[in-house]
Order: sequence, then structure tokens, then C-alpha cells
Amino acid sequence: MDLKSLIRDIPDFPKPGILFRDITTLLRDPDGLRYTIDLFTQKCIDAELQADYVIGMESRGFIFGSLLAYKLESGFIPVRKKGKLPAAVHSIEYELEYGTDCLEVHQDALHPGSRVLIVDDLIATGGTASATAKLVQQIGCELVGFGFIIELRDLQGRKHLPDVPIISLIEY
Ligand code: 5GP
Repeated sequence: MDLKSLIRDIPDFPKPGILFRDITTLLRDPDGLRYTIDLFTQKCIDAELQADYVIGMESRGFIFGSLLAYKLESGFIPVRKKGKLPAAVHSIEYELEYGTDCLEVHQDALHPGSRVLIVDDLIATGGTASATAKLVQQIGCELVGFGFIIELRDLQGRKHLPDVPIISLIEY
């Protein structure tokens, strides 16, 4: 299936000069969604990525991460922006193009030795995924790999990630 044909390009979103890859058009397509998740699952199985938990980043990582967790028979753990999670959290600050941002995970969600697979819809610069990796590694988790639906190759985000398997389904 041609997954790229189900991704909609939106010029100048969220700011001028950015070409946003919109995955909502893929999500609303029943065959496309099923195919995407089945392919994602198969690639994880082929790469022998066995995780206790899939970690998904707010907010599109929640959608693909939880569907994948269901298929892999793992649990799902959300990583959220600052101040959204109700219980005690571990936090990590990371650099953006302008300023910093902060990601959080519940303290009791992960433990040293937990095997985790980090999932998001898209990797661009790799800043979000790399911060999430640091967060889980600081807790002492075993990072088994990363999974993305879309990879923007020119931005070389994977160079900023630890040396574990990285799966992506669509490349631009
Ligand atoms: P990075 O931290 O790798 O630079 O950016 C990746 C994060 O920004 C992901 O959480 C992703 O959801 C979001 N993102 C950046 N650009 C796009 C885009 O063009 N399309 C979508 N769907 N998400 C994007």
C-alpha cells in the first residue's frame, strides 16, 4: 500500500516555511490504519524488539504507541508535556530551536530494568525522541528501540539517538 498517498502535506504549518506532514488523513482511512499498524508490528517483531512497555510521546505518539502496544501485548506509558500528569513525575528539559521544553513520565510507571520501546508519529530533528530516551535511561530502563511512522531523513534526527534499532515506515 502507498502510505505516502495517505499523508497530507500542509504548507506553512505551524509557521511559515514548514511543510507539515499531517497523519490524520492516514488515521481516518480504515485500510490505511490497519495496514500501518500491522506493518509497524511486523517490523518490531522482525527486529526482535521485545518490550515490557511502549512509550508514546504527546500527542500523536499516544495514538500509534497504544495501537502498537496492543498488538505487541505490551503496556503503554504516556510521556507528556509539563504539568499534565497527575501523580509524581520524573522530568527532563530539552532544547528547542528557540528555548526549552519539558517532558514528564509518572515515577511509578517505570523501574530500573523495564524494557521500553519509544514510539512517535514522526522524527524530525530527533530532539523529542532523544529527550525521551534520556528520561527512561536516567530511570535505568533498558531501551530496546525506537519506532516512527515517518522519518524526515534530511534532518538526520537518528544521529542524535542512542545506538539501538530504529524503525520507520515512511521516509521523506
Ligand atoms: P523533533 O523533536 O524530532 O524535531 O520533532 C518531532 C516531534 O514533532 C514529534 O513529536 C512530532 O509529532 C512533531 N512533528 C514535527 N514535525 C511534524 C510534522 O511535519 N508532522 C507531524 N505529524 N508531526 C511533526
